[in-house]
Amino acid sequence: MNKVHEEGISKFRLTLKRAPAPEQNQFIALEKWRALLYRLGLVGEYPTKQIGYGTLSSRLNKKSFIITGSQTGHLAHLQSHHYTRVIECDLKRGSVTAEGLIPPSRESLSHFEIYETNPSIQFVFHVHHAELWEFLKKTSQNSLASSSPHGVLETDMAISEYIAQKNAGLFIVQNLKNEIFSFGCSAEEAGKNILDLYRKLAVRH
Ligand SMILES: [Zn+2]
Repeated sequence: MNKVHEEGISKFRLTLKRAPAPEQNQFIALEKWRALLYRLGLVGEYPTKQIGYGTLSSRLNKKSFIITGSQTGHLAHLQSHHYTRVIECDLKRGSVTAEGLIPPSRESLSHFEIYETNPSIQFVFHVHHAELWEFLKKTSQNSLASSSPHGVLETDMAISEYIAQKNAGLFIVQNLKNEIFSFGCSAEEAGKNILDLYRKLAVRH
């Protein structure tokens, strides 16, 4: 384990400013896709550990975005108070400042990095799936090697170059098992990347 990894984890610092939940029009596209991804098991909760997985976000402006709240993975449908606004991130310090009624997860840092790297990207969907991940690892060029920690992708040049060059895409990080990142200029683009992959694998069985 490298030093950056340890620091990335230990340095996660959250400031939550209590504020009204986001407006419905700010998360309706996310909610539509999340409900579908939940049904497919791409968003959910690991029952034994009761740890939620899968985070969806959409950009609000240059620095801020709406994201699903922490520990909401077990819910089939989210309401406005389950979404929160991330208004500031500092990757070096590992700090996240959010406004809302629920804390964002530490995955906010990965979402932030993707938005920072390419200003055209408007949506980031992060899902977990063992079979899709294995399939991508074997077959895809978008299986990117990284020694970087969960939540801090920037240390890997291959990943930042890939994101910078594409306005819509999907990638995995080799040492983040089961984790898939999809992004696009619209919710449809980000969602379709994942669905296409899911269908491709379903056909193979
Ligand atoms: Zn994850």
